[in-house]
Amino acid sequence: MKKLTLALVAHDAKKDDMAEFVTMFENEIRPFNLFATGTTGGRVMERCPTLSVTRLKSGPLGGDQQIGAMIAEGRIDALFFFVDPLSPHPHDVDVKALMRLALVYNIPMALNRATAERLIASFKG
Ligand code: PGA
Repeated sequence: MKKLTLALVAHDAKKDDMAEFVTMFENEIRPFNLFATGTTGGRVMERCPTLSVTRLKSGPLGGDQQIGAMIAEGRIDALFFFVDPLSPHPHDVDVKALMRLALVYNIPMALNRATAERLIASFKG
């Protein structure tokens, strides 16, 4: 069976949430190919050093767009994007574009930890 690929992105105020989510579900997440925006990927690997994560550029420097392009190419099976709704983001247009492509290509997209926990559970065996 094809190994599925997950993309991980977390805004700054949500990076602790992402680190805790990945720590809590490390065993469930381990079998997947993992891609992440730069800083998010760094935080995830700090918390779970044995997880192999391909780090793209930082979100504001194009990382969100790189993940969007991967979605358009059919290379991402689910997006875990922990969004901070309370802060302005200089790359807001990229954030919207990423969500839009996840919708266009109909891939599962978790925008907060509660959804992520249910989504990752749905991938189990
Ligand atoms: P980052 O990017 O993981 O490099 O911080 C996430 C984002 O889009 O803000």
